Amino acid sequence: MQSVDQVETISIPRRVKGTKSWADIFAVSLNVCIILFFYMFDALYVMPQFLGFFGQSVHFLLTTWIVYNILGNLRLCTKTLTTVDSLPPKMQQPMKGEEHLWHYCNICQRTVPPRSWHCDTCNACILKRDHHCNFVGNCVGHNNQRYFIWFSFYAAIGSGVALFDNFLLAHKHGIGLFDLVAANLIIYNAIINPGAQDFTVFCRIISVLSVNIFAVVFPAALFCTQIVTVHKNSVMHDYSDRTYDLGIKNNLALVLGSRRLWTFLSPNIKSPLPHNGTQWKSQPSSRI
Ligand SMILES: [Zn+2]
Ligand SMILES: [Zn+2]
Repeated sequence: MQSVDQVETISIPRRVKGTKSWADIFAVSLNVCIILFFYMFDALYVMPQFLGFFGQSVHFLLTTWIVYNILGNLRLCTKTLTTVDSLPPKMQQPMKGEEHLWHYCNICQRTVPPRSWHCDTCNACILKRDHHCNFVGNCVGHNNQRYFIWFSFYAAIGSGVALFDNFLLAHKHGIGLFDLVAANLIIYNAIINPGAQDFTVFCRIISVLSVNIFAVVFPAALFCTQIVTVHKNSVMHDYSDRTYDLGIKNNLALVLGSRRLWTFLSPNIKSPLPHNGTQWKSQPSSRI
């Protein structure tokens, strides 16, 4: 097996059109709409109330770079296939002497590489499957985990910037953090009893803030989960497993590729993975 430092270029296959579930399509569409809404709302409505031309330009450049990273990583995470079927045919069979490391999938009715796990949504076995995420419309696995990590990171950062901006707006209208619960009750009453309540600017701002807080907390939680799994080279369904933990430097290369943390800068930075996801070195202590 290759060392993670002996990096060779692996061509990563792309998803064939027409294979997404309706839940995936809905969640990805909702995701993109929320991202674009906050981007435009803050740039065109909120910031002109607080900043001059120079300040707005700096804010626009910063948020554009963040949105570029959110959408770029989302796009590649969605498009990049990480199924066993996407491997070249000769790699879909164990190499001589490695047959005992592969296991049988009853659904695919074939042997699959170590760390592969069947996904019912994708209807395929996924190389080093972490989990299926509807918000990226794909399984997160060996070939696309890098994009998922930076997508969740930038989504949390971008939502955090938007939350700061929207709190400025709320403060201008005299709305404090503790008004959130009361205002959400007013919004709830306005929805179930239309016309009885005045759906004021106050409520509209609170609606934006509520969605915004969720948009910070959810991707931030996902990113924290990813830090734990990358640190141990484990997967979400068994995050404490250290069987494949080769140390932080090698673990980072196995997920982010040869450029490791430099992939933070852009989803388009080339960073080849050290292998194709069929051969996994384990810790010496875990070998039989
Ligand atoms: Zn399978
Ligand atoms: Zn899946």
